[in-house]
Parts: sequence; C-alpha cells; structure tokens
Amino acid sequence: MSDVNTIINEGEEYILHTYNRFPVVFDHGDGMNLYDVNGKEYLDFVSGIGVFALGYNNKKYKDALKGQIDKITHTSNYYWNEPAINAAKKIVKATGLNKVFFTNSGAEAIEGAIKSARKYAYLKDGALDHEIIAFNHSFHGRTMGALSVTGTEKYRHDFQPMIGNIVFAEMNDIDSVKNLINDKTCAILMETLQGEGGIYPADAAFIKEIRQICDEKDILLILDEIQCGMGRTGYLCAYERYGIKPDILTMAKALGSGVPVGAFVLNEKVAKNSLVAGDHGTTYGGNPLAGTAINTVFDLYDELNIVDNAKEMGDYLWEKLELIKANHSEIIDHRGLGLMQGLQFNRPVGEYINKALDKGLVLINAGTEIIRFLPPLIITRADIDKMADILESVL
Ligand SMILES: *Cc1c(COP(=O)(O)O)cnc(C)c1O
Repeated sequence: MSDVNTIINEGEEYILHTYNRFPVVFDHGDGMNLYDVNGKEYLDFVSGIGVFALGYNNKKYKDALKGQIDKITHTSNYYWNEPAINAAKKIVKATGLNKVFFTNSGAEAIEGAIKSARKYAYLKDGALDHEIIAFNHSFHGRTMGALSVTGTEKYRHDFQPMIGNIVFAEMNDIDSVKNLINDKTCAILMETLQGEGGIYPADAAFIKEIRQICDEKDILLILDEIQCGMGRTGYLCAYERYGIKPDILTMAKALGSGVPVGAFVLNEKVAKNSLVAGDHGTTYGGNPLAGTAINTVFDLYDELNIVDNAKEMGDYLWEKLELIKANHSEIIDHRGLGLMQGLQFNRPVGEYINKALDKGLVLINAGTEIIRFLPPLIITRADIDKMADILESVL
C-alpha cells in the first residue's frame, strides 16, 4: 500500500498551493476508469477537465506518440515539421476556417485570439484603443490577457490592472451586448457553451443575432470552444448546432486528448488582415509531438465515431439526470448540451462530490452549487447507468 498522506504532504511541501486538491493520487487509467496508487478503481466523469475525450490508455494514441518520441519531439518554429502541417490541415477541414496557430494551452490560444482581433482592427482604422466585449460567468484562462476577459470578478480582482478596454455583457441578453457596442468595438468573445462559469449554453437566437451584428459592423466574433469543442456537445464544433461560424476560434483541452496543445484558428478575412511574420510566436507550439497527438485524435474520432457517440450518449445522460432531478428537490436546474451538462443545486455541492469520490465516481463542480458532468466521449450507456446509481446513493 502506498501511503497517500505521505505523498500529499510531500506535494504540499514542494508544489505551490494554488489548488485545494482532492486527497487522491491517480496512477494510471484505462478506458473510462482511473486507478489510484493503491489500485482503487474510479469511474471518470471529469476526463481531466474535458481533456481525455478518447478515454485512457488508447493503444493507437499511445503508439503514435511513442513512435514520434523515437523520431523527434521538438524542432522550434524556425523549421517545418509534417505532423504540425497535417494537424493544421485537419483542423481547417473540421472547422471550416482558414489558418491555424498552435499554442501549448487554452489561455495562450485566447491571448493569440485577442492579439489577432486587435491587429485586425488596427490595420482597419489605425486606432490603438479598441474594445472587446466579453461575458459575465465566462472563463478564458489565467494569464493576464485571458484573465482580463474572464467574467468572474474574484479571479481578476487581486491582479489588477487588467489589460484595458474590456467590457462585460450578459450571456443570452442581446440588449446588454448592443448597449456596449460602439465604434471602438473590435471583437465579441464568448464561449459557445460556458463551462467553468456554470454550464450556460448560448441560446440559438442570441448567438445568431450576435453573428449578424458582427457581420454588419465588421466586429470579429471569437468563439472559445476550448472546453465545449471537439465533439463534446455532439457536434465537432459546438457552433455547428447554430449554423454559424466564428471569425476566430480557440481550441485546446480535447484537441490533444492528453498532450498539452491549443490553437487559435482564423477565418480567411482575419488570416489575411491581422498577424504577419514577427507579430506572434511560441517556442514549443505545434511541435511534432503535439502535432502527432492532434492527428491521431482526429483519426480516432473518425474511426470510433466519437462525435456521434457524444450526441447519443449526451441524450441518454440528459434522460438519466432528468430522472435524478425529479427525485430531488434540492436540484433546481439542469443545463447543458451533449456530454457537457450540469445539475444546479440549492446548496454547495462539495460534500456530494467528496462522497462520490469515496464511492469511486469522479465528479467536478462548476461554481459552488453546480455538479458538472464532463466524461470521456467514448462513454457507454452502462457507464452512465453506473454513474447515476452512485450519484443517487450519494444524494
Ligand atoms: C480551460 C479553459 C481555458 C483555459 O485553458 P488552459 O489550458 O487552462 O489555459 C479557456 N477557456 C475555456 C472555455 C476553458 O474551459
């Protein structure tokens, strides 16, 4: 038996305490399951916060990475590498957009999206005081730029000043957006389905009207699909549901399904009129290992019909959670799309999550009163049934 407390105490001694972690030390995974250092099995409904779309221990994915490790893992962006080119080609095909810039994380993808939007607006009118409209309850990451557009005051407060000229509207309230638009507005930045902030999907009418306003005024629509993209909502890109496209898309999390990668993707208009050589860079971004991960992820999505499964299992998860909601008056709302759903309670959910973990079910919150369901996209009905039984017993 490994002594978990000894491991955790050592962790606390050397790792900066910016997370209140659960007292669990995971060692390995297989399919839908995680195993801790003492071999206890857990059913995973978090997938490393929406990362492990393909579940754990996929042989083809592992073999592809191992093969690339044996060749080369990094070249720098002064030279070409084929895995990155192939990955970019797949992203362009999948998104219907035009050009890709690879990053190492979601926050960096947001930084690049902000820079692209500012440069596009600058080239148009030469002004240096453009504004970006972001949303309350949004989450875009922890670097200064990404934090500046994150609509949760407690994350931002102690780190002021933020980058300037960011204003916040209310999700699904079109007047709150219209009231903020002026000649300086260069972009509207939103998650197609808000994750961290509490699982709030965009209404179809709202997001379509935003698209229309952006078209009329040549404002860029930036959709952050770092969490809700890559098939999670039952569409490869969540925006497909609404029949619209962004001007700039940010991706990360499931894009690498376990290897740290991100990307911002520009449509043709922005690609041709924003960042040029020398404007932006990264040492690691788009390295051959990251490229191989992305290529293999797209191949496996096709092979395993991941997006169709997410849609079908998302519907089944919805039915199951509706049944649970009907049994428990403390559950006051149920929201989400596909395999990204949330149950809102009238009380903090921390205790439920701890009890579920004891019983071998990994769940996560989104805000203090919402349990978020974010399983690997390879999930089956039996996994959903098992989750529902454990959750019911916990409640
Ligand atoms: C996780 C997340 C980010 C930040 O990604 P990191 O890789 O943690 O920097 C940005 N936007 C959304 C919607 C996210 O869920």
